[in-house]
Amino acid sequence: MYKIASTDKMKKIMGDYFLSLDSGEKKIAWCTSVGPAELLRSFGFEVYFPENHGALLGATRTAMDFIPEAVKCGYSGHVCSYTTADIGSYLKGDSPLKSHYKMKGHPKPDLIAYNTNQCREVQDWLQFFAKEFDCPIVGIVPPRHMDEVTQDEVDLVIKQFKNMIPVCEQVSGQKFDEENFRETVRLSKEATLLWQKVLKTSTAMNAPLSFFDGTIHMGPIVVLRGTQLAKDYYTGLLAELEDNVKNNIGFLPQAKTRIFWEGMPIWGKLRMLSDLFTANGAAVVASTYCSSWVFDKFDENDPWNSTARAYTEIFINRSEKAKMQMLTDWFNEYRIDGIIYHDSKTCFNNSNAKFGMPQRLREKTGVPALVIEGDLCDLRFFSEAQSVTKIETFLEQLEESKLALNG
Ligand code: SF4
Repeated sequence: MYKIASTDKMKKIMGDYFLSLDSGEKKIAWCTSVGPAELLRSFGFEVYFPENHGALLGATRTAMDFIPEAVKCGYSGHVCSYTTADIGSYLKGDSPLKSHYKMKGHPKPDLIAYNTNQCREVQDWLQFFAKEFDCPIVGIVPPRHMDEVTQDEVDLVIKQFKNMIPVCEQVSGQKFDEENFRETVRLSKEATLLWQKVLKTSTAMNAPLSFFDGTIHMGPIVVLRGTQLAKDYYTGLLAELEDNVKNNIGFLPQAKTRIFWEGMPIWGKLRMLSDLFTANGAAVVASTYCSSWVFDKFDENDPWNSTARAYTEIFINRSEKAKMQMLTDWFNEYRIDGIIYHDSKTCFNNSNAKFGMPQRLREKTGVPALVIEGDLCDLRFFSEAQSVTKIETFLEQLEESKLALNG
């Protein structure tokens, strides 16, 4: 049975992180997952990420208990189920943060910051909490869906980043310190580059990290970037995975096909899907989702420009043309045989199968595609029986055409 030994360390780090949020020692800033975490940390805030809580609600399959509470308050059951599950959990006063991490519940924010580089939903979501906690809220609203991100667009985002400073100073009681900011960006850059290397270990034919394991091991790069802890964690994980590659130890020896996962994870079905692919000899070796926390443009010598650019250039914030190019590069790098698109019912923004891109990308690359319908948290939108049949048929066809091609 393949096991990543670093998993225990990761669980401990995440447990300690949640406890520190509850300790009351530091002021707390809430931040969107690809928001300006480095700037917030440079003011000494402990940073909490509501999307991480959304994923926890999905993975523990408690989301469906909470979504109806948000619906009662006027939120549609068809909008982002991170949002509705998180708001519902707050309204109901219950969360796995209590049962799993012994927290009192949602940590009270001193400041809330969002970046709509991923979607506008985060603005509505976090505004609910700003009102609820009577707390200041700041937002970055960058240009969206670009082929190329020009310097003019980056300058606009820098201006918005800098507009956050007076609010951060007032709430934290600390003056902005450019050196602190540079140091946080340096730590964040080093951790994110290690995370990138971790993901790239699975370019090896005997891949040591599956997409499903990646969704677990990405915890520290989401919630602890900008800290030494995250850097140390990925240094250890990378060493372990590189060792596995050297010793030809992978999560699925002799995989028949190599698959790319596009879109959000189906959090409540990770284990089932992982087992399904394994049983069919298919290794899911790469994803857009796990790659979303690779910010390889970070540069402590140019902290404003590099962070504004990195957070604006992310996959989800790009045009179809740019996304197709990024996917094509990943297909080549990871030697992908087929791509599975998760068309998520409540996350329009991170679903790329709604306007014909799978067909166009197949024409461009020749890589076969399958679209499955589901959701990140709300399993009422996921038909397991139907999806299993679709995936098994797709994998069988892939395998056959690969065999035919290789004679
Ligand atoms: S990107 Fe999707 S899942 Fe994430 S917050 Fe926005 S709508 Fe929700």
